[in-house]
Parts: sequence; structure tokens; C-alpha cells
Amino acid sequence: MTTIAFIGLGNMGNPMAANLVKAGHNVVGFDLMPENLALAKEHGLTIAEDSQSAVKDADVVITMLPAGKHVLSVYNEIAPWAKKGALFIDSSTIDVESARKAHAIAHENGLASIDAPVSGGTGGAAAGTLTFMAGGSKEAFALAEPVLKPMAGRIVHCGEAGAGQAAKICNNMILGISMIGVAEAFVLGEKLGLSHQALFDVASTSSGQCWSLTTYCPVPGPVPTSPANRDYKPGFAAALMLKDLKLAQEAAQGSGAATPLGAEAAQLYSLFNAQGGGGVDFSGIINFLRGDKS
Ligand code: NAD
Repeated sequence: MTTIAFIGLGNMGNPMAANLVKAGHNVVGFDLMPENLALAKEHGLTIAEDSQSAVKDADVVITMLPAGKHVLSVYNEIAPWAKKGALFIDSSTIDVESARKAHAIAHENGLASIDAPVSGGTGGAAAGTLTFMAGGSKEAFALAEPVLKPMAGRIVHCGEAGAGQAAKICNNMILGISMIGVAEAFVLGEKLGLSHQALFDVASTSSGQCWSLTTYCPVPGPVPTSPANRDYKPGFAAALMLKDLKLAQEAAQGSGAATPLGAEAAQLYSLFNAQGGGGVDFSGIINFLRGDKS
């Protein structure tokens, strides 16, 4: 049994921590929101009074926080209190630069660390089938792998510090661009008198095939499990897609990569969010492209 501190028990953190409890670990949790702590208690976590007491006896510390500034502030708060040699795993989606700073804070305090953002959403968090993309040394990854297993469907070591975050934002940039492409094709097909099913039947078995079409189809009907069939209830909210596209743009500017379609996707999701689409599933961008109110 490993003692694990889990900080950030929101939509993702709570079900992830619950799977660690189910796997037989002693999980000590901390969050700023009392209702999230109450839910964590129901899941079998021990609740700490503050982040420092959560980590002081932990072999592993997992953070699942909104953004880079939260991760750095929490790391500065807890790293001096952690057991020497403990492993820090940050699973939040944050910018690559903050991820590297978080590794540096851990190392200055004699701790092992990996960045390990996830894909798979709240459904994957509850089912324990998340994909983890990890960045850090081979030694830290070897320590992290068995800890991540109860929460994971797949765990990929992507490279050194920050590589997990780099993989996450590149993947989600593909996703944002491809969803807009698929949605535009359905809108054009509608104007040309093509049924949704006919376009789906052709594109899903032709060169237009992609995850945004065959798993997450943005029109109701062809893929009954996609959010379009439940009035675009997320799923993966457009606000989170915008967050990830902005992180990709920051990284592109910082590294000098040309990502014109990534920039356009960020712009379109930004307009969709500004029109009130932030809480809608990201596939709901099709309604924005048609000119419908979200
Ligand atoms: P959330 O807002 O539901 O949870 C974040 C939690 O962090 C909140 O409960 C908040 O109270 C807590 N928190 C903030 N500052 C804190 C502090 N200083 N100390 C302790 N707790 C603090 O967000 P979420 O949906 O769980 O997402 C968490 C991370 O996972 C984000 O980086 C997000 O981008 C990423 N992510 C989310 C999804 C998804 O589908 N929701 C999918 C993949 C990745």
C-alpha cells in the first residue's frame, strides 16, 4: 500500500483519486472547495486540513489543478514539506514552461517528478481508462507507472520534463482543427442537399475518416453516443478546448513553429466561447459555423 496525496479534487481529480482508493492505496486528499472534499470523503479518501499536511507522509503526490499558475503555487507551498525522495506527478493540463518550472521546484527539493497530463475526460477518469502522456526521467517514469495504472487505459512515456504536456497540446490541436474540418464539411453538405448519413457513410470509410467524425460526430444520428445526440452536453467543453488551443499557440509562438490552422482554430473557439458556447461540448461549434445561436 502506497500513501498518495491527491491535490485538486474537481471533475477529474475526484474520480481519479477514487480509483486509487479502489486499488488499495491510502489516499489523502486536499482541495479548496468543501463540496469536493465531501465527495472525496465518500470515495474513501482521508481529508487533510491543508496541502502541507496532505503531503508530509506521502510517497507520491498527484496534482490535478486548473492551470500552470495553480500548479506552481501549490508546488512552492508543498515541496519543502514532502518526504525526501517522494514522487510528484502533475496531471493537470498546463503550459510546457510552467511544467518545466514545476519539475525544477521538485528537483531543488530532492523529489522525483513527472508531468503526466491525461486524455479521456471525466468518463475516462471514472472508468480508469485515461491515457497518460508522461514527461520526465526514465527513473521517475518507472516509479510513476504502477501508481498511474489503476487510473489508466494507456501510459506513454513521451520524453524528458515537459514532453507529456507537449504531446497533450499537440494532440488537442489536431482534435480542435479536425473537429472544425468535420463540422464545416457537414455544413457544406447540408447546403448541397446531402444527408448527414450519406456524408458519414462515405467519409467514415474514405480519406476524410478521423476521430472527430467516427467517434465524436458533430451531427446527431450517425454515431449515437456522440454529444450531438444529447444536445451537445459535454463531453469535453468548448472552454477546455479553447484553453488547450491557447496553450498550443503560446507554445508555437515560444518555439517558432508555424501553426496557422491551430491559430485559426483558437480564434474560432474563442468566438464560440464569447457567444456563450463555453459550457457546450466542443463539437457544438457546428452550430456556430452554421450561424445558429449556441
Ligand atoms: P476542476 O475545476 O473541476 O477541478 C480543479 C480543482 O482544483 C477544483 O476542485 C479546485 O478547487 C482545485 N484547486 C484549485 N486551486 C487549488 C489549490 N491551490 N489547492 C487545492 N485545490 C485547488 O477541473 P477539472 O475538470 O478537474 O480539470 C483539472 C485539470 O485537468 C485541468 O488542467 C484540465 O484542463 C485537465 N483536463 C480536464 C479534462 C475534463 O474533461 N474535465 C480532460 C482532460 C484534462
